[in-house]
Amino acid sequence: MFVSDALNVNEKGHLTIGGVDTIEIAEQFGTPCYVFDENQIRKNCQAFVSSIEENYDGKGLVCYASKAFCCKEMCRICDEEKMGLDVVSGGELFTAIKAGFPMGKVIFHGNNKTYDELLMAVQNNVGRIIVDNFSELEMLEGIAKEKNITVPVLLRIKPGIEVHTHEFIRTGQIDSKFGFALETGEAMEAVARTLNAKFLELRGVHCHIGSQVFEIDPFKLASSVMAKFIRQIRDETGVEMKELNLGGGFGIKYLTTDNPEKFYEYVRCVSVVLKRECEKQGINLPFILFEPGRSIVGAEGITLYTAGVVKKIPNIRTYVSIDGGMADNPRYILYQAQHEIMVANKAAWEKDCAITLAGKCCESGDLIAENAPIQRVHVGDIIAVLSTGAYNYSMASNYNRLPRPCAVMVKDGECREIIKRESYLDLIRNDI
Ligand SMILES: *Cc1c(COP(=O)(O)O)cnc(C)c1O
Repeated sequence: MFVSDALNVNEKGHLTIGGVDTIEIAEQFGTPCYVFDENQIRKNCQAFVSSIEENYDGKGLVCYASKAFCCKEMCRICDEEKMGLDVVSGGELFTAIKAGFPMGKVIFHGNNKTYDELLMAVQNNVGRIIVDNFSELEMLEGIAKEKNITVPVLLRIKPGIEVHTHEFIRTGQIDSKFGFALETGEAMEAVARTLNAKFLELRGVHCHIGSQVFEIDPFKLASSVMAKFIRQIRDETGVEMKELNLGGGFGIKYLTTDNPEKFYEYVRCVSVVLKRECEKQGINLPFILFEPGRSIVGAEGITLYTAGVVKKIPNIRTYVSIDGGMADNPRYILYQAQHEIMVANKAAWEKDCAITLAGKCCESGDLIAENAPIQRVHVGDIIAVLSTGAYNYSMASNYNRLPRPCAVMVKDGECREIIKRESYLDLIRNDI
């Protein structure tokens, strides 16, 4: 019935998350409020980690793509679950450092890393830097040489695979700002240059084909394309790549009708293809890395709002406005993304209405859902928007000077704040 196993309905007819009544959470912490279920997040981490153990002899590392939802507590949870961490900026790296995350298990991504960010990564002994382009290669080599440190590097490759997802989150095709193209020979040139760089240790290659991908075939195709490339590298340079990073992008349930594959299936299928392809190519099985973001946290978080103004436009639609919107969830305005919505205090009722859920920002496009089924809404009801765990808090802004909401973690029936709500004072902190 629900998009996540964390969600249920209690005897009062209220929506629960991790067994806790969402109406009590709204009363205790106020709205808008992001709420996550820790046990379910940990289960998702474990599903990835154990599927590598079972299908690939444990020769791999699952790195949580922290851009999906980055805060110190998430870093600590990933560390406890024996995960690595994927960061894409100095800010995400700083968060990991401050959370005490083991730097050897951090991988650093980005298509335009600055000098300062690369320096920070090198000085903190980040485990792997995923180099995206030639300028970065040159800059990183300079830093490594100056600091007299050998830096472990993977190269980001565009494998030339198109996946069926929103064009803004497709990344494997040649027309992409990310990575070195395979078809044009650019990727092989990057390999040759990295092998020549004395202070760079080329560990392997990386690809990430897109996000919210439901099919397994593109991942299977990517692994065989990359295995062939590893063979080609060995043929041309005599060096065999030790690591293969296949990125993230595994789809999750936004609507109850969505039917993503189990993580286990992705890993199992990719392992089968890789083993077969490596044998065929006569190369050793590489150490494998994955970078799931959305699939770790996306469906395990919800946002609670309070319903305010209800505006009925006869024969057109009914707008229900909430005390948040695009500032805390820009996914609709960015991608026309869909979310399930419900009245949390009437979760047992029939969804016999259709409304457009609008935010409070000064943009007509500030919507969360259009003509979405929901229970009858009254002013003061608590509205739950589901599957907001990924790319909500991390994409939140202070547009219209709305303070960012707090984030609450639920575990075994207990709630704790993991990110405080911003105050008005926070908003003017840097004003001069
Ligand atoms: C965004 C991104 C991920 C995570 O994608 P999800 O869809 O959240 O799993 C992983 N790797 C790279 C390089 C990314 O850019």
